[in-house]
Amino acid sequence: MTLPPFTADIHRFLERHHYERVTPRAALIDMDGTLYDSMVNHTAAWHRLISELGIDCTRDEFYLYEGATGRATINHLFRRAYGHEATPDEADALYKRKTEYFKELPPVKVMPGAQKMVSELQRMGLTTVLVTGSGQNSVISRLDTDFPGAFPEQMRVTSRSVTNGKPHPEPYIRAMQMARVSPSASIVIENAPLGCEAGDRAGAFTIGVTTGPIPETALYEAGAAIVFSSMPALAEALPVLLLALFTTSRQKS
Ligand code: MG
Repeated sequence: MTLPPFTADIHRFLERHHYERVTPRAALIDMDGTLYDSMVNHTAAWHRLISELGIDCTRDEFYLYEGATGRATINHLFRRAYGHEATPDEADALYKRKTEYFKELPPVKVMPGAQKMVSELQRMGLTTVLVTGSGQNSVISRLDTDFPGAFPEQMRVTSRSVTNGKPHPEPYIRAMQMARVSPSASIVIENAPLGCEAGDRAGAFTIGVTTGPIPETALYEAGAAIVFSSMPALAEALPVLLLALFTTSRQKS
């Protein structure tokens, strides 16, 4: 017998987390590389900053640090190059410079498919919450225009709202509290390995979407329950996936 779409992925997730079923009431959504096609600019700004310090780095490695706070990324590179972390003041000054470099680049575009993805979630009655490790106001300030009504101020977790950035589960746990939902009533939408890890550790059914050079396997390994190859593909599949989540329970009937 052929199972309906997504059943095998959902069963695997329910077994792993010992849930009876997932009943999505809130969607917790990452920003960079998910709502906005902004990672090309972020990796360019990081690469410029870190190269200027004389630290060897590649542009693509910054896709792997996506989701971490600026301070965590700087400390990782300092430890690798110098064997110690930056002082908090050094890290803050460097991150400020990185945000300046980011602002000098052309404005980022909304990720193709993201507006459809968000409006499908709203149409299905889910609360939407922004969960970003970013403190980049130049992007955050555009949310109301690009995603009207989806992410009001009180439904945003940013780098300023948490002590621990992704891959720590804190940002997603904070978002669940904001939306007043349990982990099994949450889905997470993420493009980065650290973000998928954070979503899974928070107990949410985590949907990975590849929108950059990171392969699908890296998102599965990080904890994604299911991975889509593009945002339009996810937007297209969402109604069927949500229905499958509501109707699939751990015990096979
Ligand atoms: Mg991201």
